[in-house]
Amino acid sequence: MAHENAGFLRIKDVTKKFGPYTAVDNVSLDIAKGEIFALLGSSGCGKTTLLRMLAGFETLSAGSITLNGVELGGMPPYQRPLNMMFQSYALFPHLTVWDNIAFGLRRDGLPRDQVAERVDAMLRLVQLGKFAKRKPHQLSGGQQQRVALARSLAKQPQLLLLDEPLGALDKKLREQTQIELANIIRQVGVTCVMVTHDQEEAMTLASRIAVMSEGRLLQVGAPEEIYETPSSRFVADFIGNVNLMQGTVAVDETDHVIIDCADCRHYVGHGITGTQGMAVWVAVRPEKIQLSAQAPVDDFNYAYGRVESMSYFGSVTLYRIKLGSGQVIAVSQANHERYAEQFSQGDAVWANWSTTTQVVLTQ
Ligand code: ATP
Repeated sequence: MAHENAGFLRIKDVTKKFGPYTAVDNVSLDIAKGEIFALLGSSGCGKTTLLRMLAGFETLSAGSITLNGVELGGMPPYQRPLNMMFQSYALFPHLTVWDNIAFGLRRDGLPRDQVAERVDAMLRLVQLGKFAKRKPHQLSGGQQQRVALARSLAKQPQLLLLDEPLGALDKKLREQTQIELANIIRQVGVTCVMVTHDQEEAMTLASRIAVMSEGRLLQVGAPEEIYETPSSRFVADFIGNVNLMQGTVAVDETDHVIIDCADCRHYVGHGITGTQGMAVWVAVRPEKIQLSAQAPVDDFNYAYGRVESMSYFGSVTLYRIKLGSGQVIAVSQANHERYAEQFSQGDAVWANWSTTTQVVLTQ
């Protein structure tokens, strides 16, 4: 990663074992100063354990973690220059918003005027100035979340850790809050590592994402990189929806390969070194496919099928197309104009896509 602050947080060969079970398996990551980084994976993949090791709540079985060049291993949680915001927010119910934010600063013995200055600045940042005297139970879920964020940032940590930051909010509120949260974190410029199982949350908030499974990192990259060029079927399927067509390399020329699948031939002219006979999967996102009532003139990258079902979602209509082999693919068509039904159930259609939008996977 070409970044002047690369390696601000350096996680090197970190492993965590619980008895014989390996929860985090030899993970290495370099996170730049000011980056918002998401650890993304389904339940049990080890993301929370990794976050807890950063916070100091778990010891490392192997490896090292350094923050700004300082080794964190062996340092108790309260001495680490970081703060963790929990999913439950862990606000003190009997304290006002103001006192909740001031709590850590007072405990650290910060002079009274500086405490007041910082708390007021934090309240302005999260736009809760007029709620300073309320108790947490008098706030909405989104407001409580902002108090928790203000409290986490008040001590000006070098690193902010977020555990499922929006997990306690309902879907609508979560979408609004995602943007607010990202803006506040960027405004402060604090380096941030968050844990989530929600790919939308990771994609909205983070500048880079690490996809984890079974304790390992499967892929690390910017959201668009992971979405457009997933490195494995697991990642392709985990991030968004995807059609996976199983095939075999039929022709391997130096500048292109041709892959035969049950329902179509794929021409791939970019970045592939497949050899004849190799088993591969071709991944195509539903929104990269167009539907047509006529057969394409080209020889490649299309499949014939029938409309099995369609679902109208307002901005898009999702078609499910049953191909000759029986495989059903998903095709999402944007409704740019006022929706006018293009295809009906049972219609014969040709699904086609550009060679540059398909991804060939070998694992
Ligand atoms: P979730 O989203 O459900 O929290 P996760 O991806 O964050 O899942 P972890 O909490 O990191 O996963 O757990 C990873 C694995 O390690 C799980 O299989 C879990 O059961 C196991 N594990 C976590 N903590 C302990 C512990 N203290 N003792 C034994 N096993 C544990």
